[in-house]
Amino acid sequence: MICLRCGYCCINLSVIIINPIYIQKKLDLNNLTDEGFIHKPDGILCPYLNFTGKKAICSIHNYDWFKSTPCYSHTQIESSTDCNCRMGQHIIKNNINVLKFIHNNTPSITLN
Ligand code: SF4
Ligand code: SF4
Repeated sequence: MICLRCGYCCINLSVIIINPIYIQKKLDLNNLTDEGFIHKPDGILCPYLNFTGKKAICSIHNYDWFKSTPCYSHTQIESSTDCNCRMGQHIIKNNINVLKFIHNNTPSITLN
């Protein structure tokens, strides 16, 4: 599946992400233990999510160790690696503001 970077998943899905403390303390992210991960509940903004215009940018996506994260393996609804994400297509085509999916009362995860 080709992610079209609409940002929906990084807000509205419940996902396991790298513990920001590990990055702040510059700990070894190539040998992560369970404490290296935290749970980001659905409906809260991932602390690593930024936007350039409407394009969602994951600020940790280009690190080598990102390949060992659940986000990297995320394939979501499409079975083929070469077809566009239909959910992202729908969101982009209909100009849906993904920030409206922030709903959870859980405090946001911050980077400091
Ligand atoms: S770590 Fe990156 S890909 Fe994963 S939810 Fe956060 S912004 Fe999205
Ligand atoms: S809905 Fe699809 S295009 Fe949007 S962030 Fe998720 S995988 Fe990417």
